[in-house]
Amino acid sequence: MSRSSSLRNAYATLKVPAMSNINVRLPDGSSQSVAAGTRPIDVARSISPRLADAAIVASVNGQLYDLTRPLESDADLKILTTKDAEALQVYRHSTAHLLAAAVLELFPETQLGIGPPIDTGFYYDFDRPAAFTPEDLEKIEKRMWEIQARDLPYERVLTPKEEGLKKYADAWMKCELIRERAGDVFSEYTLGPHFIDFCRGPHVPSTSKIKAFKLLSIAGAYWKGDEHNKQLQRIYGTAFFTKKELDEYIAKLEDAKKRDHRKLGQELDLFSIQELAGPGLIFFHPKGGIVRKQIEDWMRDQYLKRGYSLVYTPHIVRRELFKVSGHADFYGENMFVPMKLDDAEYQPKPMNCPGHILIYADKQRSYRELPVRLGELGTVYRYERSGVMHGLMRVRGFTQDDAHIFCTPGQIEEEVVACLQFAFDTLKTYGFNDCEAELSTWDNGASGKYDGTADQWKLAENALKNAAERVNLKIKVMQDEAAFYGPKIDVKLVDAIGRLWQLSTVQFDFTLPRRFGLEYIAEDGKAHQPLMVHRALYGSIERFFGILLEHYAGAFPVWLAPVQAIVLPITDRQIDFAKQVRDRLEQAGIRATLDDRSEKVNAKIREAQLQKIPFMLVVGDREAQSGQVAVRHRKRGDLGAKPLDAFIADAQKLIESKAIEE
Ligand SMILES: [Zn+2]
Ligand SMILES: [Zn+2]
Repeated sequence: MSRSSSLRNAYATLKVPAMSNINVRLPDGSSQSVAAGTRPIDVARSISPRLADAAIVASVNGQLYDLTRPLESDADLKILTTKDAEALQVYRHSTAHLLAAAVLELFPETQLGIGPPIDTGFYYDFDRPAAFTPEDLEKIEKRMWEIQARDLPYERVLTPKEEGLKKYADAWMKCELIRERAGDVFSEYTLGPHFIDFCRGPHVPSTSKIKAFKLLSIAGAYWKGDEHNKQLQRIYGTAFFTKKELDEYIAKLEDAKKRDHRKLGQELDLFSIQELAGPGLIFFHPKGGIVRKQIEDWMRDQYLKRGYSLVYTPHIVRRELFKVSGHADFYGENMFVPMKLDDAEYQPKPMNCPGHILIYADKQRSYRELPVRLGELGTVYRYERSGVMHGLMRVRGFTQDDAHIFCTPGQIEEEVVACLQFAFDTLKTYGFNDCEAELSTWDNGASGKYDGTADQWKLAENALKNAAERVNLKIKVMQDEAAFYGPKIDVKLVDAIGRLWQLSTVQFDFTLPRRFGLEYIAEDGKAHQPLMVHRALYGSIERFFGILLEHYAGAFPVWLAPVQAIVLPITDRQIDFAKQVRDRLEQAGIRATLDDRSEKVNAKIREAQLQKIPFMLVVGDREAQSGQVAVRHRKRGDLGAKPLDAFIADAQKLIESKAIEE
């Protein structure tokens, strides 16, 4: 039996109940009585041809549903169009099928993994002996357009599990998925005579619905994300409802590529990752070190100004500490393995909290001392799997600007307000004007998976909500998204090209104070358990550094720039004067260098420009005689000659005010 006739047989087993009428309720409150077996697309057509044309997928009783799948019983029906976010997911996933169908036509030896939609588009995982090349991607994309033009329907087929296992006997990934996930009968979707895929659906009704897509890249990916499994080839792509949206997205990607912190980090000689030392471990070079020092100094100063104490805790401690804190159990697989020393096992810390707790608990605390705010730029080590590390963004060793606040219930709202204000000031200092925030709450105790009492959750969630209101922070409430140990607010910044980055967190913890038996003596003379809040504003300094690098596209504001001014003598005759200029700048606290090579001044300017040095000070005979410098700015170009003192005063003003706009 050929594959396609077996499909048709499977399709024929799809039973539509005997003709009877069902009631379809629409979002506007109206309802229609239609024959059982009517398809959502038919209902859409009966409402308006335009709706049918814009339709991507249906929602039936709150579940996504193919437009062409017959309705079998009474239903609440909504037709989703290009205006609905869920429709975009379905559209992108349908494009992933189109990709897989094209790959199978061109490379029939390929086996299919999974092909889900993602935030930025979709991907499909393939198992194929030969590696896909960039030329293959072009070929595949071309074939996708050919299939698109055939206007093939995405047909849903029901197959009994046993039959499916036989049919897919030589498709190892599909068999594995069917064994794990399929019920007695499962759904497959066809696309033309060659392509069929085990898939829950739904999809767009036909390939002609797909108007704008592009394949982007090829990457390695382990089957089911597990490094013990076979490595597959993942093809990434994206899809939008219109060509215009796609073009805008591609332009943004190009911009992002130019800003890639790994590329800039190398070009500007800021940091490196060393093969000999291992992946996910960052080496800051001298120039990166200067930028990092500014970032750290600002934060430490702010800690002291805002009533935090600075502490330092060891990088490695007895494993026993993590047994008490629970990390050894709950977080064990993300930790570096313990090492045996003479008396016990020791382990690098994955978090700073247990250390700060030991400092809090080292003496008896009175309510009079609270709040206790312990802050540290604390370096932690986490075991990230080898495939997931990414430049500065995902690493194995990093430094958090980490603080823990221990306080009474009466103090908590003020503390959260102060944390949020601190977070805003941080964003403003680095020139981020927009942010978004999410409040993750519990499920009101329904599942029993959350630690802490209902009273604790109520107090903490209210404190977070009220504090957000007081600082005019709009929050999106994410119910049942909290960590098991307490609710939190996450603040995400919006960067120069509109990307969102998770940055600051203010997180309650009901578990650790209990595990460590933390106390303070309250006004009633009795011991009470303090509230504990974890908060990090930069998150990880390495990652924040990467975000800044991409946000500024390498052109750090003057106060952060590793080199703030470079002196460029036109000929060797002015070298002595140029040296004096450099020395004067350095004495005035301006980071300056001198390019005294015998190169043409234009070449020196070009290079300084590539290094994104804010000010280039060109000195020729005229400047040497008059004690002036010809100022050139990396963005604004030639600013004319100025007395050196005037330049120094201007530059100092920019540095002191931490100006973002120059
Ligand atoms: Zn599918
Ligand atoms: Zn913590």
